[in-house]
Amino acid sequence: MKKSTLAIIIPCYNEELCLTSTLNRLLEVLTMLEQKGKINHDSYIYLVDDGSTDSTWSIISDFHSKEPRIKGTRFVRNYGNQKALLAGLEGVKQIGCDCAVSIDADLQQDELAIEKFIDEFHNGAEIVSGIRNDRKTDGFIKKHTAFLFYKTMNILGAKIPVNHSDYRLVSKKALDIMEEFDERYLFLRGFFNELGLRTSYVKFDVKPRKAGNSKFNFITLTKLALDGITSYSVRPLRLIAMLGFLMGLFGFLVGVETVIEKIYFNNSPNGWATTVILLCIFGGLQIFCLGIIGEYVGQVFREVKGRPRYIKDDELI
Ligand code: UDP
Ligand code: MG
Repeated sequence: MKKSTLAIIIPCYNEELCLTSTLNRLLEVLTMLEQKGKINHDSYIYLVDDGSTDSTWSIISDFHSKEPRIKGTRFVRNYGNQKALLAGLEGVKQIGCDCAVSIDADLQQDELAIEKFIDEFHNGAEIVSGIRNDRKTDGFIKKHTAFLFYKTMNILGAKIPVNHSDYRLVSKKALDIMEEFDERYLFLRGFFNELGLRTSYVKFDVKPRKAGNSKFNFITLTKLALDGITSYSVRPLRLIAMLGFLMGLFGFLVGVETVIEKIYFNNSPNGWATTVILLCIFGGLQIFCLGIIGEYVGQVFREVKGRPRYIKDDELI
């Protein structure tokens, strides 16, 4: 039977309430997988402390001093979950592994699915994506905005399955390819789905958060979605151009019709309401479109500066 070195990546931001039990549980899972002969003895857990202000880092250091399978790094400040994930992927690539699985610190994702991920990997998949069975644990707003986001992304050409999450396995090969992508903001969900490597899907159950609160709110989720869209696809810009053209055409036709009415039927259009409504609609649309273009300009700005994606403070390996 095939046996691999597995690295489990956990982004953590102020997770002192969950972390101890999560790490104990994941160590059990590692031991269980090792006993079943699916992973090597040098498999490990790699934590990325995303600038926590609580005792997250001291929990990680304590574990590390007692247990060589726990490794980790710490950011100088909070960079957000996507950067923490990216640092995790880059970190385990440097340390070395055959495959890496990313999972949340609150262990909302069913940790036993990792075994299925490994099985798929041994069957030849380079990427194994976790798909949530349902969104029962999410509130009304999150459930619906998430759905809207996946739909929008798919219209924009990213082939992300609905309810895909950052719970996934990637092979060493995928990590090697990732290294060649130099962009500052890498939208991981889109990226791994687009690579064209052999991908399979594993369904898993979502549990309620063990302790603490969700680190995401409406604003951070909107930011994530906007960064995802603008870093990934230029299709919104094309849609805007198309919209502008159609609006122009509409205006032109209405103009022609007005002239014909005046010349042949002596009807002149009246009503300031029409004017005001049209002004507001088209004015609003223009500002909206400018906003979208602004998002792209912002994205270009960030990429052009080429600042480091994140800055590490400390690393325990
Ligand atoms: N997280 C992070 N940086 C942040 C916010 C969140 O590393 O700025 C981590 C967090 O510690 C957790 C994962 O990302 O491991 C998912 O966060 P959370 O459980 O709060 O999100 P939700 O499950 O509510 O979507
Ligand atoms: Mg969570």
